[in-house]
Amino acid sequence: MAEVFILKFNKIPINMYENFHKIFSGSNHNTFEICKKCGGACEYNKIGTLLPGEEEYMAKKMGISVSEFKLRYLDILKMDDGTLIHVLKLGELCPFLNKETEACECSDFKPIMCKIYPVVFTVESGTVNFVIDNWCQLSRKKVCRNYFESAIPLLSRLPIPVEWFNHVISYDDLYFDYDQLKKCRKGKNQYAVFSLEELLSLQRDPVEAYQIKTYNVEMYKIQKAGTSIDFYQEIDEINF
Ligand code: SF4
Ligand code: SF4
Repeated sequence: MAEVFILKFNKIPINMYENFHKIFSGSNHNTFEICKKCGGACEYNKIGTLLPGEEEYMAKKMGISVSEFKLRYLDILKMDDGTLIHVLKLGELCPFLNKETEACECSDFKPIMCKIYPVVFTVESGTVNFVIDNWCQLSRKKVCRNYFESAIPLLSRLPIPVEWFNHVISYDDLYFDYDQLKKCRKGKNQYAVFSLEELLSLQRDPVEAYQIKTYNVEMYKIQKAGTSIDFYQEIDEINF
């Protein structure tokens, strides 16, 4: 008999997801070219996490059952205290990434944590703070920065428990070895459970980002499984 998993958090109602996506699209004409030049640096070796109940919203948008959605797109992370959290299937590529076009196939209803980036969060003394990740090129253009900052009040209105943030922060900003993750998947169910300990043992070195001396140009080195890519990115003067 298949194991039944129960996620601990109260689900955020579907209409709240619907409203969020209606108000905040996560991209516009200002962001598109920057992300295209950058080549998706934020996606290499990272883990995508769903908010409580987000699997139901996404399954509904795709017109499939929640159980089919889980089998096709999700895995579970089991935290040290037994809390279970849904993540996009752990592997080399996000299951929503179209390999040929490199487009996100769920862009209109993608996980909110994907949609809001470069907005990230910190948890201090039980308080969640949303901040802009200055590593992302979008943070360097004032107009983009303002746009993403406009998502923060919307996010703050979602009833996300602080315990959820406390768990997610234990792996959210880390980088993982997708090859090892793939090997680890062997012998697990299709809708697989990975323990936090198991996940943390599969970390890899962080993406290196460093500035070279050329005026107004920043150089990034992206570490992919077994390879590395160097690219240059022109940046605006930082004026915030
Ligand atoms: S790191 Fe920032 S600029 Fe690059 S693809 Fe991701 S969101 Fe776009
Ligand atoms: S869901 Fe879309 S935006 Fe999020 S990691 Fe997958 S392809 Fe990227």
